[in-house]
Amino acid sequence: MDQQDVIVVGAGNAALCAALSAREGGARVIVLERAPFAERGGNSTFTAGAIRVAYNGVDDLVALVPDLSEEEKHTTDFGTYTEDQYFDDMARVTQHRGDPDLVELLVRRSHATLKWLRGKGVRFVPIYGRQAFKVGGRFKFWGGLTVEASGGGPGLVEALHKAAERAGIEVLYEARAVALLADDRGVGGVRVRQQGKTRELRAKSVILACGGFEANAEWRTRYLGPNWDLAKVRGTRFNTGDGIRMALEIGAQPRGNWSGCHAVSWDRNAPEFGDLAVGDQFQKHSYPFGIMINARGERFVDEGAEFRNYTYAKYGRVVLEQPGQFAWQIFDHKVAHLLRDEYRIRQITKVEADTIERLAERLEDVDKPAFLRTIAEFNRAVRQDIPFNPNVKDGRAAVGLKIPKSNWANTIDTPPFLGFAVTCGITFTFGGLRITNDAQVVDTDGAPIPGLYAAGELVGGLFYFNYPGGTGLMSGAVFGKIAGASAALAAERTPAAAAS
Ligand SMILES: Cc1cc2nc3c(=O)[nH]c(=O)nc-3n(C[C@H](O)[C@H](O)[C@H](O)COP(=O)(O)OP(=O)(O)OC[C@H]3O[C@@H](n4cnc5c(N)ncnc54)[C@H](O)[C@@H]3O)c2cc1C
Repeated sequence: MDQQDVIVVGAGNAALCAALSAREGGARVIVLERAPFAERGGNSTFTAGAIRVAYNGVDDLVALVPDLSEEEKHTTDFGTYTEDQYFDDMARVTQHRGDPDLVELLVRRSHATLKWLRGKGVRFVPIYGRQAFKVGGRFKFWGGLTVEASGGGPGLVEALHKAAERAGIEVLYEARAVALLADDRGVGGVRVRQQGKTRELRAKSVILACGGFEANAEWRTRYLGPNWDLAKVRGTRFNTGDGIRMALEIGAQPRGNWSGCHAVSWDRNAPEFGDLAVGDQFQKHSYPFGIMINARGERFVDEGAEFRNYTYAKYGRVVLEQPGQFAWQIFDHKVAHLLRDEYRIRQITKVEADTIERLAERLEDVDKPAFLRTIAEFNRAVRQDIPFNPNVKDGRAAVGLKIPKSNWANTIDTPPFLGFAVTCGITFTFGGLRITNDAQVVDTDGAPIPGLYAAGELVGGLFYFNYPGGTGLMSGAVFGKIAGASAALAAERTPAAAAS
């Protein structure tokens, strides 16, 4: 195979955005995908396709969703999600640790990047149902998460692959990059193992977009800590930290929250890795409308501290910390209609009963008398004087408890009663590589490494402790686009001989 300008490692959202952008910049691009065709697209394929984008009103949304109907516009309060709100959310949930330059790029380029993707054939739709509830005949969006890719993650990945095909970008499957080819001049290619054969592929630039180390139990334990080997992996089995390892091996600088990750409540009996037939539906995200209890029958977290989008990514860790690494989510009939679709799948660990005592008997591995005491105390603590409203932080709290519930508290007293068993499902890791504003990887002395770029999960410095829902895809798209443009520009300036 003749020399490429740019090799992209990975074939998820960040990688394909990088490949399309590099091609647009005039580069000849090849994509290496470790997975077989049927499992292509990494975690991006497992997503719901929800993307956090800044918009100043319905006109900005129409630019992304041109087929929004007049009726939808009239019956929906889309509100705004300004760049300032986006900055505030990033700052608050990461406890002001996120790199200001990277956050600035993420936020300010979010809308333009989605418009660019729209131009490449990716379609977006409003997320009715999960990010907006109908109250008084009108949908109202909340939590800053308003659009998703049509067809969810699989739809997004399919549309990106189609665009890559149209642009003449070749994708090699079952092609695992195992090492970077580097010398004093920088990076000039990768060593790749494809179907049992190892060879060297040369290029003027390499873009690493091959995910974090969430699917590597040994690294999880090493960096995230004890018991993380026991977490279930929500997505692809192929993100084992290869890109990070390859870059560190040639002197790249680690960056970000290496002991942190995105992890959620996930069905207790889900398989070790994600299952594409089920996608993200093992997640159980409606806990703000109920309570969560552990093996001791006790609540352990403020389920209503914030909108789901701002707590779900850190509560997986809290579940992992409970005895036996599990919890039960408890709801009664009053809120059953608010439960997300994922509560109605076949592959679910669910119990149901007509009385709370019978429910207690069915909650496996739980201290039953303690659970009944918890329910009684909780019911007494609910502020009945404040009306319940799922669309706003309603302040309807359960007060005077060791662990309060700040919003959406309702008594648990109306049959049938429901229990769902969850454990911790890891989504992706936060630690990664240091990059410049041009998405170029930086070495341990602080100098950019010629010919090496990175995007997506393996970029460190954006997320710490927590994460606002929908930012993963946005970050992959923004930094993928930047990485591709930078790599194409560098390739244009590099004489072919220098890369060989
Ligand atoms: C169940 C689930 C639901 C989610 N929902 C959302 C959501 O709705 N919105 C959102 O913004 N985020 C969501 N996320 C997070 C989101 O998936 C990620 O942040 C984002 O997709 C990461 O994109 P990426 O391109 O960096 O990585 P990935 O999409 O994981 O792509 C990595 C690619 O690299 C390949 N690869 C790995 N190692 C190698 C190697 N050595 N050589 C070649 N290729 C390799 C993989 O096979 C894969 O193709 C979700 C994640 C999961 C698991």
